[in-house]
Amino acid sequence: MRADYHVHTEFSDDSDYAMEKVIQDSIAMGLDEICFTDHVDYGIKKDWDEPGKMIYRKGSPGEPDEMPLANYHNYSVLGHMDLITRYDKTGTYSFKKLKPILTKILKTVIADGKGIEVNTSSYRYGLSDLTPSRDILKLYWELGGHILTIGSDSHKPEHLGTFINETKQELKALGFKKFCTFDKMQPIFHQL
Ligand SMILES: [Zn+2]
Repeated sequence: MRADYHVHTEFSDDSDYAMEKVIQDSIAMGLDEICFTDHVDYGIKKDWDEPGKMIYRKGSPGEPDEMPLANYHNYSVLGHMDLITRYDKTGTYSFKKLKPILTKILKTVIADGKGIEVNTSSYRYGLSDLTPSRDILKLYWELGGHILTIGSDSHKPEHLGTFINETKQELKALGFKKFCTFDKMQPIFHQL
């Protein structure tokens, strides 16, 4: 199974890659499946039809013990678990400090029967670690997590399907045996 499970198109405001072209390019490079992951950044940027001024979200994402995000179950995988590592100029925040909240999040994901994604853009951004980091992936594995998708986070033709094979090798080295595609929200497992 060759799949790219994180693909953007012109419907995301940071991409002008036409959806039809993404499909044609995917077929041409022999991908069996792709997953469109277009985004609208509410409260971050203005949407295309949003009149007036930007309205920012109130409050913080919540204290670690509250996790308001915990009542929502209509997802397949958590994407971009440590996206900030792409942009944090002060360096990587200590895994040790993050471990308690990460453990809580990953336990929730596992109890929900959901998974996490591995985003291969870490290679493109020249990061030394995977995203999520090897520490997070190891923790997920130790907690019993086994639902994983792999995606390039492509916004341009040259991103599509990239570094997926390298990521599969890394996941095997961490102990994982399988990765997933989805059909009607249900994971389908494939050998790495
Ligand atoms: Zn993305």
